[in-house]
Amino acid sequence: MGVSPGFRTHRHRKAGVNALRLIGFIFVKGLLSLMAAMEKIVSLCKRRGFLFQSSEIYGGLQGFWDYGPLGVELKRNLKDAWWRDMCSGHNEMVQPAGAPSTFDMVGLDSTIIMHPQIWKCSGHYDMFHDYMVDCRESKKRYRHDQLRGRWVSHPDATATAKIFVTTMAEADEEQAEIQHRALKYFKLRPKDAESLVYDGPSTTLDTVDEFSIVLGPDAKTLGTLTEPREFNLMFKTTIGALGGEEDYAFLRPETAQGIFVNFKNVLDSSRISVPFGIAQVGKSFRNEITPRNFTFRSREFEQMEIEFFCHPNSSQDWYRYWRDRRLAWYQTLGLSRESLLMREHAAEELAHYSVGTADIEYAFPFLPKGEYGELEGIAHRGDFDLRSHMEGKLDPSTRPMVVELDEFGKPRHRGSGRDLTYRDDITGERFTPHVIEPSAGADRGALAFLCEAYHEDEAPDENGKLQTRVVMKLHPRLAPIKAAVFPLVKKDGMPELAQEIYAELKRDLAVFYDEKGAVGRRYRRQDEAGTPYCITVDTESLTTKTVTIRDRDTLEQTRVKIDELAAELKRRISS
Ligand code: ATP
Repeated sequence: MGVSPGFRTHRHRKAGVNALRLIGFIFVKGLLSLMAAMEKIVSLCKRRGFLFQSSEIYGGLQGFWDYGPLGVELKRNLKDAWWRDMCSGHNEMVQPAGAPSTFDMVGLDSTIIMHPQIWKCSGHYDMFHDYMVDCRESKKRYRHDQLRGRWVSHPDATATAKIFVTTMAEADEEQAEIQHRALKYFKLRPKDAESLVYDGPSTTLDTVDEFSIVLGPDAKTLGTLTEPREFNLMFKTTIGALGGEEDYAFLRPETAQGIFVNFKNVLDSSRISVPFGIAQVGKSFRNEITPRNFTFRSREFEQMEIEFFCHPNSSQDWYRYWRDRRLAWYQTLGLSRESLLMREHAAEELAHYSVGTADIEYAFPFLPKGEYGELEGIAHRGDFDLRSHMEGKLDPSTRPMVVELDEFGKPRHRGSGRDLTYRDDITGERFTPHVIEPSAGADRGALAFLCEAYHEDEAPDENGKLQTRVVMKLHPRLAPIKAAVFPLVKKDGMPELAQEIYAELKRDLAVFYDEKGAVGRRYRRQDEAGTPYCITVDTESLTTKTVTIRDRDTLEQTRVKIDELAAELKRRISS
């Protein structure tokens, strides 16, 4: 989440607050600049069809990514696992461990384009922005809080004594780049590097007030960067053929608002009662100023969000429940505890009505050691959203919150006027439910699972010689292909039997058939795809009606009866 996480729409991030130090790589015209570990993952993603840059044959479109044949399955499996574990598989009659009570859970699929007033009442229209600076010389645009630099001076300099040299270089190249640019600016040679005097460590541009002595990352002269300006991240579009000012609309920057505005519809049409959650998975769009770090910061991405409505008195307990449950979920699907961080926001980061917000963060390989990037935010949002859609956009700086007024004393953004309160049938109490929001990104999730899965180890080839192998240790629930079926050789009836097995398994499992090339090479291809099991039909299969199952991670081969194969695979995948 941004700086004021309870109030998601205020996104201007201060240096040092966001744990994610924004470094990494940008895919520009086929040029990849990233760190070794990540480079391997990116290369595998492209080579094996997990991810492609959008519109690649036209030079690509920055911040947009396509999922290839393996990637689409992985992301779908991730979304399905989330939907099943959070929503469709929820048993409302059983109190889950750690939950304050039983609860209901339902789903929703709302539209991407909604009434523009929704974004005014949610606060996105006024406040969903980042600050950017433009360079008058290079004509490039940068995010204010992402530009990094150092104060540098040179004793012999005749012009400005001390300047702030900025760069967009990756963390490991940052100092070298700053030095190179400072030497150039002071008209010095590399051998004079020792004579440069640095004042303090590298820091972000938003700690600097005097822009006239800043050297922009692509500029030759000082003071070419503009003062930071607000940039709304919502994509604007028009509805209908006329396309006048009244016809404008926005592509949603989050799925959550579709849930809030359907709160009453869902309540009135289902036999559910507070506490309950509404889950939604869908595309969101943000016109990020500097999309980067592979799919981590994209302009089009998918979210998996729950808005959980509860009584104000129990909201803190529900907040803790969801925070802990969501952290545990990532671990059940294979992220290690050591690579995850639960970051509770400090009091000054919280919106005043919020009793808590936590980010679940992951140690992405493109970040320096010890730093983490956000996978999911769990926010206690109080009654801000429901009240804003009822009464008009609330002023989050007031206490208790009141509707924000314009210069004529009228609501700045009018609400729907609909009653979004809830009446408890048993106690008769009427109240506006409080909201806990676990908000996860499907693309960041998929990227984290890909990073975690990437391993290099050694395995014997067909001649028994140890060879380095690349293996994607994806959890079987997430793996794009659950099992591959091979005839050991392409003769003696083995392909026929293997194809029979394949057809049978294909009915309800994502399986793959391959008879081309040496079996060792076929195993390697499946290891790279993350396929947890390979089934081989060999000579013995023809007489004993058995096959071998090879485990991707342990390399152990066990023989099972063909009749029992489907059940055995399902047992292994779900355990
Ligand atoms: P960040 O601070 O990294 O921009 P945020 O705090 O603005 O994220 P939220 O508004 O909390 O993000 O959105 C919830 C989730 O949606 C994030 O945890 C992340 O997984 C995902 N998400 C948000 N922005 C992007 C993006 N530009 N690209 C990919 N996923 C995103």
